[in-house]
Amino acid sequence: SMNSQLAAEKEQAEKSRNIKAEFLANMSHEIKTPISGVIGMSQMMLSQNPPSYVRENVLHILDSSKNLLAMVNNILYYSKIESNKYTRKEKFFLLRPFLESLFYTMKQTIPEDKSLTLCHDLSADLPLCIYSDALKLRQILINLISNAIKYTPRGTVTLHCTPTSEGLCFNVIDTGIGIKEEHLTTIFEVFEQVDTHYTKEHQGTGLGLAISQQLAQVLQGTITVTSTEGEGSCFSLTLPCRVEQKKTESPS
Ligand code: ADP
Repeated sequence: SMNSQLAAEKEQAEKSRNIKAEFLANMSHEIKTPISGVIGMSQMMLSQNPPSYVRENVLHILDSSKNLLAMVNNILYYSKIESNKYTRKEKFFLLRPFLESLFYTMKQTIPEDKSLTLCHDLSADLPLCIYSDALKLRQILINLISNAIKYTPRGTVTLHCTPTSEGLCFNVIDTGIGIKEEHLTTIFEVFEQVDTHYTKEHQGTGLGLAISQQLAQVLQGTITVTSTEGEGSCFSLTLPCRVEQKKTESPS
């Protein structure tokens, strides 16, 4: 009958989705080992105080291989999400130290020759502790902040965090290239990148936002974006989560 044919087709589609996800996961895993080798070797060469012309080149190798590793990690992440291997692992953790450590990590990633300031603006009435999945929240914020840094040639990137009636709201605001209205929804789809001269020069995998949105769903949160082309963008993550104000709550 029509119904059983549909069911069979659905099952087949599900099967190939799983095969694809598994293939991506295995591939990525296999690729990570040699990349780690290249990174390790470059770091070793740098530690041997090579002449400056060698040093320059090795720094390039190190940079590129780190980018490659980040891409492969994204693909691995995405395939894991696709095969529904992600569940929430929630616990109470201190919010401010969490954000400050993230902020410190992201500061290191700004290229030295870029005149970009990373600021944070944490609301005074932030809860002391929140009950959430710290790793996933961190991954989402890293993706949003890296994009903001990547797509902002100069100016500022601000991480803003404030409690609202819907939950905690994290805004990542940049003064970058912005996004045309017609691209505001497609950028959350897999492998979708806005086709501009600037984005071509800063090739990524087109997975960051798709991953972030799926992770936000796992946390029952939402990501929205507002943007003006040529002026900048604001990506907002709203996270409904239990909060704890008591100072006695023990951290992680
Ligand atoms: P990519 O690896 O290409 O950065 P993402 O999924 O993270 O993939 O982003 C998809 C696309 O959305 C990017 O290619 C870029 O065109 C656009 N985009 C994302 N964040 C920003 C931003 N802060 N400013 C301008 N464009 C952005």
